[in-house]
Amino acid sequence: MPDGSAVVLGGSMAGLLTARVLSEFYGQVTVVERDELPDGSAQRRGVPQGRHLHALLARGGEVLDELFPGLTADLIGAGAPSGDLLGGIRWLLSGHRIRQVDIGQPVLFPSRPLLEGQVRARVRALPGVRLADGRDIVDLTASTDRTTITGVTVRDGAGRTTTIRADLVVDATGRGSRTPLWLEGLGFARPTADRVHTDVGYASRTYDMPDDALGTDRLILVNWTREHPRGAGIARQEDGRYMVTLVGLLGDYPPTDPDGFVDFAAGVPLTDVHRLINEGKPLDDPVAFRYPANIRHRYEHLTGFPEGLLVLGDAVCSFNPVYGQGMTVAALQAAALRRHLLGNPSPSWRRYFREIARVVDVPWQLATGADLAFPEVLGHRSLKTRLVNAYLPHLHAAAVTDASLSAAFVRVTGLLDRPEGLLRPDRLLRVLRAALSR
Ligand SMILES: Cc1cc2nc3c(=O)[nH]c(=O)nc-3n(C[C@H](O)[C@H](O)[C@H](O)COP(=O)(O)OP(=O)(O)OC[C@H]3O[C@@H](n4cnc5c(N)ncnc54)[C@H](O)[C@@H]3O)c2cc1C
Repeated sequence: MPDGSAVVLGGSMAGLLTARVLSEFYGQVTVVERDELPDGSAQRRGVPQGRHLHALLARGGEVLDELFPGLTADLIGAGAPSGDLLGGIRWLLSGHRIRQVDIGQPVLFPSRPLLEGQVRARVRALPGVRLADGRDIVDLTASTDRTTITGVTVRDGAGRTTTIRADLVVDATGRGSRTPLWLEGLGFARPTADRVHTDVGYASRTYDMPDDALGTDRLILVNWTREHPRGAGIARQEDGRYMVTLVGLLGDYPPTDPDGFVDFAAGVPLTDVHRLINEGKPLDDPVAFRYPANIRHRYEHLTGFPEGLLVLGDAVCSFNPVYGQGMTVAALQAAALRRHLLGNPSPSWRRYFREIARVVDVPWQLATGADLAFPEVLGHRSLKTRLVNAYLPHLHAAAVTDASLSAAFVRVTGLLDRPEGLLRPDRLLRVLRAALSR
Protein backbone atom coordinates (compact mmCIF):
# COMPACT_ATOMS: atom_id res chain seq x y z
CA MET A 1 0.00 0.00 0.00
CA PRO A 2 1.48 3.40 -0.94
CA ASP A 3 1.81 6.03 1.77
CA GLY A 4 1.48 9.80 1.68
CA SER A 5 -1.66 11.79 1.08
CA ALA A 6 -3.08 13.80 -1.78
CA VAL A 7 -6.01 16.17 -2.12
CA VAL A 8 -7.90 16.76 -5.34
CA LEU A 9 -9.81 20.03 -5.60
CA GLY A 10 -13.09 19.51 -7.51
CA GLY A 11 -15.02 16.28 -7.95
CA SER A 12 -16.10 16.55 -11.57
CA MET A 13 -14.64 14.50 -14.44
CA ALA A 14 -11.08 15.86 -14.17
CA GLY A 15 -11.08 15.55 -10.36
CA LEU A 16 -12.43 12.00 -10.38
CA LEU A 17 -9.95 10.82 -13.01
CA THR A 18 -7.12 12.48 -11.08
CA ALA A 19 -8.21 10.69 -7.91
CA ARG A 20 -8.21 7.39 -9.77
CA VAL A 21 -4.61 7.96 -10.87
CA LEU A 22 -3.41 9.26 -7.50
CA SER A 23 -4.87 6.26 -5.68
CA GLU A 24 -2.04 4.20 -7.21
CA PHE A 25 0.61 6.45 -5.70
CA TYR A 26 -0.81 7.85 -2.43
CA GLY A 27 -2.28 5.95 0.50
CA GLN A 28 -4.98 8.58 1.09
CA VAL A 29 -6.68 10.62 -1.58
CA THR A 30 -9.36 13.15 -0.63
CA VAL A 31 -11.55 14.74 -3.29
CA VAL A 32 -13.04 18.03 -2.10
CA GLU A 33 -16.23 19.07 -3.87
CA ARG A 34 -18.70 21.86 -3.16
CA ASP A 35 -21.78 19.93 -4.30
CA GLU A 36 -23.33 17.10 -2.33
CA LEU A 37 -22.45 14.25 -4.68
CA PRO A 38 -25.36 11.97 -5.58
CA ASP A 39 -25.02 8.18 -5.36
CA GLY A 40 -26.30 7.46 -8.83
CA SER A 41 -26.50 9.60 -11.93
CA ALA A 42 -28.16 12.96 -11.38
CA GLN A 43 -27.75 16.56 -12.49
CA ARG A 44 -25.88 18.76 -10.03
CA ARG A 45 -25.28 22.46 -9.62
CA GLY A 46 -21.51 22.49 -10.14
CA VAL A 47 -21.87 20.89 -13.60
CA PRO A 48 -24.58 22.94 -15.35
CA GLN A 49 -23.25 21.66 -18.68
CA GLY A 50 -24.76 18.28 -17.75
CA ARG A 51 -28.10 19.54 -19.09
CA HIS A 52 -26.64 19.77 -22.60
CA LEU A 53 -25.63 17.11 -25.08
CA HIS A 54 -22.24 15.63 -24.18
CA ALA A 55 -20.17 13.65 -26.63
CA LEU A 56 -17.46 11.36 -25.34
CA LEU A 57 -14.85 11.35 -28.10
CA ALA A 58 -13.65 7.96 -29.31
CA ARG A 59 -10.20 8.49 -27.77
CA GLY A 60 -11.83 9.46 -24.47
CA GLY A 61 -13.68 6.15 -24.35
CA GLU A 62 -10.42 4.29 -24.86
CA VAL A 63 -8.59 6.14 -22.07
CA LEU A 64 -11.52 5.74 -19.67
CA ASP A 65 -11.46 2.00 -20.31
CA GLU A 66 -7.73 1.95 -19.54
CA LEU A 67 -8.36 3.69 -16.22
CA PHE A 68 -11.54 1.73 -15.40
CA PRO A 69 -11.55 -1.57 -17.32
CA GLY A 70 -15.06 -2.44 -18.51
CA LEU A 71 -16.47 1.08 -17.99
CA THR A 72 -17.73 1.66 -21.53
CA ALA A 73 -19.36 -1.79 -21.64
CA ASP A 74 -21.13 -0.99 -18.36
CA LEU A 75 -22.27 2.38 -19.72
CA ILE A 76 -23.74 0.65 -22.75
CA GLY A 77 -25.34 -1.88 -20.39
CA ALA A 78 -26.86 1.06 -18.49
CA GLY A 79 -28.48 2.26 -21.71
CA ALA A 80 -25.92 4.66 -23.20
CA PRO A 81 -26.43 4.64 -26.98
CA SER A 82 -23.41 3.42 -28.90
CA GLY A 83 -22.50 2.99 -32.51
CA ASP A 84 -19.83 3.38 -35.11
CA LEU A 85 -17.91 6.65 -35.17
CA LEU A 86 -18.76 7.17 -38.84
CA GLY A 87 -21.55 4.70 -39.62
CA GLY A 88 -23.60 5.63 -36.55
CA ILE A 89 -23.41 9.42 -36.76
CA ARG A 90 -25.21 11.67 -39.22
CA TRP A 91 -22.55 14.37 -39.63
CA LEU A 92 -23.11 17.66 -41.39
CA LEU A 93 -19.76 19.36 -42.00
CA SER A 94 -19.37 22.65 -43.89
CA GLY A 95 -22.96 22.11 -44.99
CA HIS A 96 -22.18 18.66 -46.46
CA ARG A 97 -23.65 15.41 -45.23
CA ILE A 98 -20.57 13.21 -45.30
CA ARG A 99 -20.70 9.60 -46.38
CA GLN A 100 -21.48 7.15 -43.58
CA VAL A 101 -19.96 3.69 -43.52
CA ASP A 102 -18.95 1.56 -40.55
CA ILE A 103 -15.23 1.91 -39.90
CA GLY A 104 -15.04 -0.45 -36.92
CA GLN A 105 -14.43 2.35 -34.45
CA PRO A 106 -16.94 2.17 -31.61
CA VAL A 107 -18.13 5.29 -29.84
CA LEU A 108 -20.76 5.85 -27.18
CA PHE A 109 -22.95 8.76 -26.21
CA PRO A 110 -23.72 8.58 -22.49
CA SER A 111 -25.47 11.53 -20.90
CA ARG A 112 -23.15 13.55 -18.69
CA PRO A 113 -24.89 12.52 -15.42
CA LEU A 114 -24.69 8.82 -16.39
CA LEU A 115 -21.02 8.98 -17.32
CA GLU A 116 -19.98 11.03 -14.29
CA GLY A 117 -22.14 8.89 -11.99
CA GLN A 118 -20.50 5.67 -13.18
CA VAL A 119 -16.99 7.11 -12.91
CA ARG A 120 -17.79 8.49 -9.44
CA ALA A 121 -19.07 5.10 -8.23
CA ARG A 122 -15.81 3.47 -9.32
CA VAL A 123 -13.69 6.17 -7.69
CA ARG A 124 -15.73 5.98 -4.46
CA ALA A 125 -14.97 2.24 -4.31
CA LEU A 126 -11.19 2.68 -4.61
CA PRO A 127 -9.26 1.87 -1.43
CA GLY A 128 -7.87 5.00 0.22
CA VAL A 129 -10.11 7.43 -1.70
CA ARG A 130 -12.59 9.65 0.18
CA LEU A 131 -15.08 11.99 -1.46
CA ALA A 132 -15.34 15.01 0.85
CA ASP A 133 -18.43 16.59 -0.69
CA GLY A 134 -20.53 19.51 0.50
CA ARG A 135 -17.32 21.44 1.20
CA ASP A 136 -16.16 24.70 -0.26
CA ILE A 137 -12.45 25.14 -0.98
CA VAL A 138 -11.32 28.29 0.77
CA ASP A 139 -7.56 28.51 0.28
CA LEU A 140 -4.32 26.59 -0.04
CA THR A 141 -2.01 26.25 2.94
CA ALA A 142 1.74 26.65 2.42
CA SER A 143 5.04 26.27 4.24
CA THR A 144 6.24 29.39 6.08
CA ASP A 145 8.66 30.19 3.27
CA ARG A 146 5.70 29.81 0.83
CA THR A 147 7.60 27.51 -1.50
CA THR A 148 5.60 24.35 -0.81
CA ILE A 149 1.86 23.70 -0.67
CA THR A 150 0.99 21.71 2.43
CA GLY A 151 -2.77 21.29 2.11
CA VAL A 152 -6.06 23.07 1.70
CA THR A 153 -8.58 24.84 3.91
CA VAL A 154 -12.21 23.86 3.36
CA ARG A 155 -15.53 25.05 4.77
CA ASP A 156 -18.47 22.70 5.30
CA GLY A 157 -22.19 23.47 5.04
CA ALA A 158 -22.34 24.49 8.71
CA GLY A 159 -19.62 27.11 8.14
CA ARG A 160 -16.89 25.13 9.96
CA THR A 161 -13.43 25.55 8.51
CA THR A 162 -10.86 22.73 8.60
CA THR A 163 -7.48 22.09 7.02
CA ILE A 164 -6.69 18.92 5.11
CA ARG A 165 -2.96 18.25 5.03
CA ALA A 166 -1.49 16.78 1.86
CA ASP A 167 1.82 15.96 0.20
CA LEU A 168 0.25 16.83 -3.15
CA VAL A 169 -2.71 19.06 -4.06
CA VAL A 170 -4.16 18.88 -7.58
CA ASP A 171 -6.49 21.67 -8.67
CA ALA A 172 -9.30 20.34 -10.87
CA THR A 173 -11.88 23.04 -10.13
CA GLY A 174 -12.49 23.84 -13.80
CA ARG A 175 -12.64 27.17 -15.61
CA GLY A 176 -13.07 29.13 -12.39
CA SER A 177 -9.83 27.75 -10.90
CA ARG A 178 -8.24 30.15 -8.42
CA THR A 179 -4.70 28.82 -8.80
CA PRO A 180 -3.59 31.93 -10.74
CA LEU A 181 -4.83 34.10 -7.85
CA TRP A 182 -3.32 31.83 -5.20
CA LEU A 183 0.00 31.96 -7.01
CA GLU A 184 -0.01 35.74 -6.82
CA GLY A 185 -0.87 35.60 -3.12
CA LEU A 186 2.13 33.33 -2.55
CA GLY A 187 4.45 35.69 -4.38
CA PHE A 188 4.67 33.78 -7.70
CA ALA A 189 3.78 35.11 -11.14
CA ARG A 190 0.41 34.13 -12.64
CA PRO A 191 0.54 32.08 -15.83
CA THR A 192 -0.25 33.95 -19.01
CA ALA A 193 -3.44 32.84 -20.71
CA ASP A 194 -4.27 32.47 -24.40
CA ARG A 195 -7.89 33.34 -25.14
CA VAL A 196 -9.97 32.98 -28.27
CA HIS A 197 -13.37 34.61 -27.80
CA THR A 198 -16.30 33.01 -29.60
CA ASP A 199 -19.36 33.96 -27.46
CA VAL A 200 -21.02 30.62 -27.87
CA GLY A 201 -24.59 30.05 -26.75
CA TYR A 202 -26.18 26.66 -26.06
CA ALA A 203 -29.85 25.84 -25.53
CA SER A 204 -31.08 22.30 -24.89
CA ARG A 205 -34.42 20.63 -24.44
CA THR A 206 -35.53 17.02 -24.12
CA TYR A 207 -38.19 15.47 -26.33
CA ASP A 208 -40.31 12.40 -26.60
CA MET A 209 -39.72 10.97 -30.07
CA PRO A 210 -40.34 7.54 -31.59
CA ASP A 211 -37.63 4.91 -30.90
CA ASP A 212 -36.58 5.02 -34.55
CA ALA A 213 -36.65 8.82 -34.90
CA LEU A 214 -33.01 8.86 -36.06
CA GLY A 215 -33.35 5.74 -38.22
CA THR A 216 -30.24 3.62 -37.83
CA ASP A 217 -28.19 6.62 -36.66
CA ARG A 218 -27.36 7.15 -33.00
CA LEU A 219 -26.47 10.81 -33.15
CA ILE A 220 -27.02 13.81 -35.40
CA LEU A 221 -24.17 16.31 -35.35
CA VAL A 222 -24.37 19.53 -37.30
CA ASN A 223 -21.09 21.42 -37.13
CA TRP A 224 -21.08 25.12 -37.83
CA THR A 225 -19.02 26.85 -40.45
CA ARG A 226 -18.69 30.38 -41.74
CA GLU A 227 -21.50 29.91 -44.25
CA HIS A 228 -23.60 27.88 -41.79
CA PRO A 229 -22.95 29.38 -38.38
CA ARG A 230 -25.51 27.40 -36.40
CA GLY A 231 -24.98 23.91 -35.05
CA ALA A 232 -27.05 21.22 -33.40
CA GLY A 233 -26.89 17.77 -31.90
CA ILE A 234 -29.60 15.21 -31.23
CA ALA A 235 -29.15 11.91 -29.41
CA ARG A 236 -31.31 9.53 -27.46
CA GLN A 237 -30.35 9.33 -23.79
CA GLU A 238 -30.40 6.28 -21.54
CA ASP A 239 -33.85 7.18 -20.19
CA GLY A 240 -35.33 7.08 -23.70
CA ARG A 241 -35.65 10.87 -24.01
CA TYR A 242 -34.05 12.66 -26.92
CA MET A 243 -31.72 15.52 -26.05
CA VAL A 244 -31.72 18.35 -28.59
CA THR A 245 -28.95 20.90 -28.24
CA LEU A 246 -28.80 24.01 -30.45
CA VAL A 247 -25.71 26.20 -30.64
CA GLY A 248 -24.85 29.59 -32.08
CA LEU A 249 -21.74 31.69 -31.88
CA LEU A 250 -20.68 35.32 -31.80
CA GLY A 251 -23.73 36.25 -29.79
CA ASP A 252 -26.23 34.34 -31.96
CA TYR A 253 -27.63 32.65 -28.86
CA PRO A 254 -30.44 30.12 -29.27
CA PRO A 255 -33.47 31.42 -27.35
CA THR A 256 -34.98 29.55 -24.41
CA ASP A 257 -38.60 30.45 -25.08
CA PRO A 258 -40.24 27.46 -26.77
CA ASP A 259 -41.19 29.29 -30.01
CA GLY A 260 -37.81 30.97 -30.31
CA PHE A 261 -36.08 27.62 -29.80
CA VAL A 262 -38.02 26.06 -32.69
CA ASP A 263 -37.45 29.11 -34.92
CA PHE A 264 -33.71 29.02 -34.25
CA ALA A 265 -33.64 25.35 -35.28
CA ALA A 266 -35.09 26.37 -38.65
CA GLY A 267 -31.76 28.13 -39.27
CA VAL A 268 -29.72 24.96 -38.67
CA PRO A 269 -28.46 23.82 -42.07
CA LEU A 270 -29.69 20.21 -41.69
CA THR A 271 -33.49 20.31 -42.06
CA ASP A 272 -33.82 17.02 -40.10
CA VAL A 273 -33.26 18.98 -36.89
CA HIS A 274 -36.23 21.32 -37.38
CA ARG A 275 -38.43 18.49 -38.61
CA LEU A 276 -37.58 16.21 -35.68
CA ILE A 277 -38.30 18.81 -33.02
CA ASN A 278 -41.56 19.75 -34.73
CA GLU A 279 -42.62 16.11 -34.75
CA GLY A 280 -41.40 15.42 -31.19
CA LYS A 281 -43.17 16.26 -27.94
CA PRO A 282 -41.17 18.58 -25.67
CA LEU A 283 -40.76 17.25 -22.13
CA ASP A 284 -39.31 20.35 -20.46
CA ASP A 285 -38.35 23.96 -21.13
CA PRO A 286 -35.13 24.82 -22.96
CA VAL A 287 -32.15 25.62 -20.73
CA ALA A 288 -29.25 27.84 -21.78
CA PHE A 289 -25.50 27.99 -21.29
CA ARG A 290 -23.14 30.75 -22.42
CA TYR A 291 -19.50 30.15 -23.08
CA PRO A 292 -17.43 33.25 -23.84
CA ALA A 293 -13.96 32.00 -24.80
CA ASN A 294 -11.47 29.17 -25.18
CA ILE A 295 -8.87 29.71 -22.43
CA ARG A 296 -5.46 28.07 -22.13
CA HIS A 297 -3.35 28.84 -19.07
CA ARG A 298 0.30 28.57 -19.97
CA TYR A 299 1.61 26.95 -16.77
CA GLU A 300 4.40 25.40 -18.84
CA HIS A 301 5.89 28.86 -19.39
CA LEU A 302 6.27 29.67 -15.68
CA THR A 303 9.73 29.88 -14.17
CA GLY A 304 8.54 29.59 -10.57
CA PHE A 305 5.79 27.51 -8.99
CA PRO A 306 5.31 25.99 -5.53
CA GLU A 307 6.16 22.36 -4.89
CA GLY A 308 3.27 20.06 -4.00
CA LEU A 309 0.74 21.61 -6.38
CA LEU A 310 -0.44 20.63 -9.87
CA VAL A 311 -3.38 21.67 -12.05
CA LEU A 312 -5.46 19.49 -14.39
CA GLY A 313 -8.53 19.61 -16.67
CA ASP A 314 -10.49 22.74 -17.59
CA ALA A 315 -8.44 24.58 -14.97
CA VAL A 316 -5.52 24.29 -17.41
CA CYS A 317 -7.40 24.57 -20.68
CA SER A 318 -11.07 24.93 -21.45
CA PHE A 319 -12.24 24.51 -25.03
CA ASN A 320 -15.20 25.73 -27.01
CA PRO A 321 -17.59 22.91 -25.99
CA VAL A 322 -19.02 22.28 -29.47
CA TYR A 323 -15.99 20.17 -30.30
CA GLY A 324 -16.73 17.84 -27.37
CA GLN A 325 -13.10 17.66 -26.23
CA GLY A 326 -13.08 18.63 -22.54
CA MET A 327 -13.64 15.26 -20.87
CA THR A 328 -11.36 13.44 -23.29
CA VAL A 329 -8.55 15.94 -22.75
CA ALA A 330 -9.05 15.66 -18.97
CA ALA A 331 -8.72 11.87 -19.33
CA LEU A 332 -5.58 12.25 -21.47
CA GLN A 333 -4.10 14.61 -18.87
CA ALA A 334 -4.89 12.13 -16.10
CA ALA A 335 -3.13 9.43 -18.12
CA ALA A 336 -0.15 11.79 -18.54
CA LEU A 337 -0.12 12.43 -14.79
CA ARG A 338 0.02 8.66 -14.25
CA ARG A 339 2.99 8.32 -16.61
CA HIS A 340 4.63 11.26 -14.83
CA LEU A 341 4.23 9.72 -11.38
CA LEU A 342 5.53 6.37 -12.59
CA GLY A 343 8.75 8.14 -13.65
CA ASN A 344 8.87 10.77 -10.85
CA PRO A 345 7.64 9.56 -7.45
CA SER A 346 7.91 13.20 -6.26
CA PRO A 347 6.24 15.09 -9.04
CA SER A 348 8.17 17.79 -10.87
CA TRP A 349 5.76 20.66 -11.72
CA ARG A 350 8.06 21.85 -14.49
CA ARG A 351 8.12 18.53 -16.32
CA TYR A 352 4.44 17.81 -15.56
CA PHE A 353 3.22 21.08 -17.11
CA ARG A 354 5.41 20.50 -20.17
CA GLU A 355 3.92 17.02 -20.58
CA ILE A 356 0.39 18.34 -20.12
CA ALA A 357 1.05 21.06 -22.70
CA ARG A 358 1.87 18.38 -25.26
CA VAL A 359 -1.49 16.71 -24.53
CA VAL A 360 -3.35 19.99 -24.95
CA ASP A 361 -1.57 21.19 -28.12
CA VAL A 362 -3.57 19.27 -30.75
CA PRO A 363 -7.07 19.73 -29.28
CA TRP A 364 -6.31 23.43 -28.74
CA GLN A 365 -5.16 23.76 -32.33
CA LEU A 366 -8.28 21.93 -33.59
CA ALA A 367 -10.74 23.98 -31.52
CA THR A 368 -9.25 27.42 -31.94
CA GLY A 369 -8.26 26.71 -35.56
CA ALA A 370 -11.91 25.93 -36.39
CA ASP A 371 -13.13 28.99 -34.46
CA LEU A 372 -10.69 31.22 -36.33
CA ALA A 373 -12.38 30.26 -39.61
CA PHE A 374 -14.89 32.96 -38.62
CA PRO A 375 -13.43 36.34 -39.59
CA GLU A 376 -15.16 37.99 -36.59
CA VAL A 377 -13.28 35.78 -34.12
CA LEU A 378 -10.22 37.69 -32.97
CA GLY A 379 -6.88 35.91 -32.76
CA HIS A 380 -3.67 35.18 -34.59
CA ARG A 381 -4.17 33.21 -37.81
CA SER A 382 -0.98 31.47 -38.79
CA LEU A 383 -0.48 30.57 -42.43
CA LYS A 384 -1.18 26.95 -41.49
CA THR A 385 -4.50 27.88 -39.84
CA ARG A 386 -5.55 29.85 -42.93
CA LEU A 387 -4.57 27.06 -45.30
CA VAL A 388 -6.32 24.39 -43.25
CA ASN A 389 -9.48 26.50 -42.96
CA ALA A 390 -9.48 27.01 -46.72
CA TYR A 391 -8.90 23.29 -47.33
CA LEU A 392 -11.37 21.69 -44.91
CA PRO A 393 -14.62 22.72 -46.68
CA HIS A 394 -13.21 21.05 -49.84
CA LEU A 395 -12.35 17.93 -47.85
CA HIS A 396 -15.88 17.89 -46.38
CA ALA A 397 -17.39 18.28 -49.85
CA ALA A 398 -15.28 15.40 -51.14
CA ALA A 399 -16.25 13.30 -48.10
CA VAL A 400 -19.88 13.28 -49.30
CA THR A 401 -18.91 10.48 -51.67
CA ASP A 402 -15.43 9.47 -50.48
CA ALA A 403 -15.76 7.43 -47.29
CA SER A 404 -11.98 7.24 -46.82
CA LEU A 405 -11.95 11.03 -46.39
CA SER A 406 -14.95 11.07 -44.06
CA ALA A 407 -13.27 8.35 -41.98
CA ALA A 408 -9.98 10.25 -41.85
CA PHE A 409 -11.74 13.42 -40.74
CA VAL A 410 -13.88 11.89 -37.97
CA ARG A 411 -10.86 10.01 -36.60
CA VAL A 412 -9.06 13.35 -36.22
CA THR A 413 -12.04 15.00 -34.47
CA GLY A 414 -12.26 11.90 -32.24
CA LEU A 415 -8.61 12.61 -31.23
CA LEU A 416 -7.59 9.18 -32.52
CA ASP A 417 -5.29 10.48 -35.26
CA ARG A 418 -3.20 13.60 -35.62
CA PRO A 419 -4.58 16.32 -37.92
CA GLU A 420 -1.49 16.39 -40.17
CA GLY A 421 -2.73 13.13 -41.72
CA LEU A 422 -5.52 15.05 -43.44
CA LEU A 423 -2.84 16.75 -45.52
CA ARG A 424 -1.26 13.51 -46.75
CA PRO A 425 -0.51 13.71 -50.49
CA ASP A 426 -2.94 10.90 -51.39
CA ARG A 427 -5.72 12.68 -49.48
CA LEU A 428 -4.90 16.06 -51.01
CA LEU A 429 -5.14 14.40 -54.39
CA ARG A 430 -8.54 12.86 -53.63
CA VAL A 431 -9.85 16.23 -52.44
CA LEU A 432 -8.48 17.94 -55.55
CA ARG A 433 -9.94 15.31 -57.88
CA ALA A 434 -13.35 15.63 -56.23
CA ALA A 435 -13.21 19.43 -56.50
CA LEU A 436 -12.34 19.22 -60.20
CA SER A 437 -15.11 16.74 -60.89
CA ARG A 438 -17.61 19.04 -59.19
C1 LIG B 1 -22.13 23.55 -22.43
C2 LIG B 1 -20.97 22.59 -22.35
C3 LIG B 1 -20.98 21.44 -23.11
C4 LIG B 1 -19.90 20.56 -23.04
N1 LIG B 1 -19.90 19.47 -23.85
C5 LIG B 1 -18.87 18.59 -23.77
C6 LIG B 1 -18.87 17.42 -24.58
O1 LIG B 1 -19.77 17.19 -25.38
N2 LIG B 1 -17.81 16.57 -24.43
C7 LIG B 1 -16.78 16.83 -23.56
O2 LIG B 1 -15.85 16.02 -23.47
N3 LIG B 1 -16.76 17.93 -22.82
C8 LIG B 1 -17.77 18.82 -22.89
N4 LIG B 1 -17.75 19.94 -22.12
C9 LIG B 1 -16.57 20.18 -21.25
C10 LIG B 1 -16.62 19.30 -20.03
O3 LIG B 1 -17.84 19.43 -19.35
C11 LIG B 1 -15.42 19.57 -19.12
O4 LIG B 1 -14.26 19.64 -19.89
C12 LIG B 1 -15.28 18.47 -18.09
O5 LIG B 1 -16.31 18.54 -17.15
C13 LIG B 1 -13.95 18.51 -17.32
O6 LIG B 1 -13.95 19.64 -16.58
P1 LIG B 1 -13.33 19.73 -15.11
O7 LIG B 1 -13.62 18.53 -14.33
O8 LIG B 1 -11.94 20.19 -15.28
O9 LIG B 1 -14.16 20.97 -14.53
P2 LIG B 1 -15.70 21.09 -14.21
O10 LIG B 1 -16.48 20.06 -14.90
O11 LIG B 1 -16.07 22.52 -14.42
O12 LIG B 1 -15.78 20.76 -12.66
C14 LIG B 1 -15.25 21.57 -11.65
C15 LIG B 1 -15.70 20.97 -10.31
O13 LIG B 1 -15.10 21.70 -9.26
C16 LIG B 1 -16.07 22.04 -8.29
N5 LIG B 1 -15.64 23.29 -7.65
C17 LIG B 1 -15.36 24.46 -8.27
N6 LIG B 1 -15.00 25.38 -7.36
C18 LIG B 1 -15.06 24.78 -6.14
C19 LIG B 1 -14.81 25.23 -4.82
N7 LIG B 1 -14.40 26.48 -4.54
N8 LIG B 1 -14.97 24.35 -3.80
C20 LIG B 1 -15.36 23.07 -4.05
N9 LIG B 1 -15.62 22.60 -5.30
C21 LIG B 1 -15.47 23.44 -6.32
C22 LIG B 1 -17.37 22.19 -9.08
O14 LIG B 1 -18.52 22.05 -8.28
C23 LIG B 1 -17.22 21.07 -10.12
O15 LIG B 1 -17.70 19.85 -9.64
C24 LIG B 1 -18.80 20.84 -22.19
C25 LIG B 1 -18.80 22.00 -21.41
C26 LIG B 1 -19.86 22.88 -21.50
C27 LIG B 1 -19.81 24.14 -20.68
